[in-house]
Amino acid sequence: MRGFRALSTRIAVLYGTLFAVVLALVVSLAAGGLARFAEASAARDMAANARVFDEILAARARQMGDEAAVLARDFGFREAVATADAPTISSALASLEARVRSDSAFVLTLEGEVIGAGDTAIADPQALMARLDAGAGRGIIAGSKGLALAAAAPIEAPDLIGWLVIAQPMNRAELDRLVELAPIALEAEVVDAAAAPAWQRRARAGAVFEREIGGARFLYHLSDLPVLADGIAPRLVLRHALAQSLAAYAGLKALLAALAAGGIALAVGLSWRVARSVTEPLAELDAATRMIGAGREVSLAVRTGDEIGRLAESFNQMVSAIAERERQIIHVGLHDGLTGLPNRKLFTEQLANALARRAKGEKVLVAYVDLDDFKLVNDTLGHPAGDALLKLVAAHLSEDLPEALVARLGGDEFAVLIDGIDEKANLAAIADRLQASFDRPITINGQAAPCSASIGIALAPGDGADGVTLMKNADLALYRAKHEGKASYHFFEPGLDEAARRRRQLEVDLRSAIREGQFALHFQPLYSVVQQRLTGFEALIRWDHPERGRVSPAEFITLAEETGLIIPIGEWVLREACHQASTWPADISVAVNVSPRQFAAPRLAATVLSALSASGLAPGRLELEITESIFIADVDATLATLHSLRNLGIRIALDDFGTGYSSLSYLRSFPFDKVKIDKSFVADLGTSPNGHAVIRAITTLADALGMETLAEGVEHMAQFEVLAREGCQNIQGYLFSRPVPAEAVPDLIAEAAGAERQLRA
Ligand code: C2E
Ligand code: MG
Ligand code: MG
Repeated sequence: MRGFRALSTRIAVLYGTLFAVVLALVVSLAAGGLARFAEASAARDMAANARVFDEILAARARQMGDEAAVLARDFGFREAVATADAPTISSALASLEARVRSDSAFVLTLEGEVIGAGDTAIADPQALMARLDAGAGRGIIAGSKGLALAAAAPIEAPDLIGWLVIAQPMNRAELDRLVELAPIALEAEVVDAAAAPAWQRRARAGAVFEREIGGARFLYHLSDLPVLADGIAPRLVLRHALAQSLAAYAGLKALLAALAAGGIALAVGLSWRVARSVTEPLAELDAATRMIGAGREVSLAVRTGDEIGRLAESFNQMVSAIAERERQIIHVGLHDGLTGLPNRKLFTEQLANALARRAKGEKVLVAYVDLDDFKLVNDTLGHPAGDALLKLVAAHLSEDLPEALVARLGGDEFAVLIDGIDEKANLAAIADRLQASFDRPITINGQAAPCSASIGIALAPGDGADGVTLMKNADLALYRAKHEGKASYHFFEPGLDEAARRRRQLEVDLRSAIREGQFALHFQPLYSVVQQRLTGFEALIRWDHPERGRVSPAEFITLAEETGLIIPIGEWVLREACHQASTWPADISVAVNVSPRQFAAPRLAATVLSALSASGLAPGRLELEITESIFIADVDATLATLHSLRNLGIRIALDDFGTGYSSLSYLRSFPFDKVKIDKSFVADLGTSPNGHAVIRAITTLADALGMETLAEGVEHMAQFEVLAREGCQNIQGYLFSRPVPAEAVPDLIAEAAGAERQLRA
């Protein structure tokens, strides 16, 4: 059953059976045709034989008649008959019988007397006589031993005195002798129609017909024989067994059967071979498909140029296409789509490999590279430009550090792996080379795009034996490099770990500071040069840490920004500042710093409104100080927020002007109420010869744009005088006052009012 399920067996059986059926049909048709041919030719032979037989009988009768005539004319014999000389007649008849090989010769006298009848007693001499008288000379007579062929000759002396008759019984022996002369096997019989079976009597004489007797088929031919005695109707019955004539073709039939059997065997064999030629490749294909399923690599041998060969070829092509796609999938999984560089996964794998094969006395370097202000490029030049920049950076790094594995970890962060570094190699030179890669000019869409990067470097085995530690330490070093003023590199040092730990602690402390209300606001006066009076205060946050004492905002505001804690802190500052300001005279305003993270939060306008309504402070007395870095986020959204705040009647000041990336363009993008010139420009006034010019340029521009100016960090009278001369309208700095606690503000205001009065007086 299992074997029959095989396609090759089924094909072979199917075709074998088909062929066998067709052959059997052909053979049986041929055999049938053969039989019919044999029968027809037997019938033909039979008819021919019947004629021959008739002739044989006629010839025999003629011969007997001739011999009888010779004796009948013999003078002595005639005399013996005329004289009834019996001994002479007998001796003459005996010698005639011997000569003619006849059983019986006798004389029939006119009186009807029979002389010398020998062995054959004649049944009815009168019936014979009647025929002889009628002129017949030859034919069948009825003898005592059955029917006999007889011929007669007249005995004349000179008148007719009797008849000389020679008779030969048509018995089996005689007929068998005659039959031997026939070309086909015949059985002959002479019968009287009266004694013959009914079917013979009905049969037409002279025709060949078929008759089945006892299960065997026979051909029959009947012919009426001439009669020499009245009262009988003799017939010659010839019979031929068909089996005999068919037997002659048996060999041919056997040959046909043998040919058929051979043909079937050949057909089965050939179908088997053809089937195998199809099913064997199919089986190979099946096995190969399983192997592919099992993830093994396979290739089929192409042996022929036919459909099967082409199938094998197509299969091989499919296999290699699958393999190629797999390679692509693996590549995609391990590479960055934009730059084509290895991704973090591949990088960590390669790092693990490099660490595993690191020889004694060799170092493995991991550098974390983070582009400086990349967001700005995206925002000002667009994301496609940002992508182009990343691709260029990737290409430059790969070109400049051919020995390194450069990967993109995500965003604007890259990693570099260099292994096999000699212990005594100059590591600073490697770091310089890395940094120098960013000195290459970059143009995007025909526009020069400034690009620098901060780099953190860690080395195995000193900074960590495993990949995770090395990468973490490179990241710490990067963090430090960023904080040290960007566009620089920093090697990992154990202290960094400590700094990170401190940072984490600070974060924990910040959270409890929010909960426990450890913050306070200090206020620094803002002085109008033009009006020569105190116009407001800037609120500056202070944190009195229970253990560390006062922590500078420069230290914790950045962290609060990074962690998002600036949101609740900023909210508190706004409320507290508005609350304090509401207790001041109506012409004194308050300025509150808003950090980028705060600004990007959707709640800002709502928080501001709620702080104003809670305190009852007029919106016109609140000034929000923002820095250019708020534009690093979505510029359109930033401008929308600025406008909505401005629509509330709140004033907007641009803080730390001049330190940013593209100050002038921001200045043009929004009508700020005030521009706060960064204190570094004020500090420059004493040292740089261009200081004045810079201040003048800013105040001129701000005037043109309808914006007020304020100079921060004014500590000396000399600075104040220059600033006043160069058109700066407002002043903030230690010269006037340091930031003071809220309780000290009323005194300061009163003091200032007194001074003003004195000035006016
Ligand atoms: P800022 O907004 O530019 O504030 C002015 C800073 O200059 C203050 O530092 C102030 O004490 C200092 N300063 C004033 N006059 C002089 C001077 O004559 N000489 C010198 N050398 N410095 C002077 P502070 O209070 O340490 O604040 C540092 C920065 O922290 C601020 O810079 C501001 O960006 C941020 N900050 C302070 N309070 C807050 C706050 O409540 N929210 C937010 N988001 N940021 C704040
Ligand atoms: Mg400020
Ligand atoms: Mg400032």
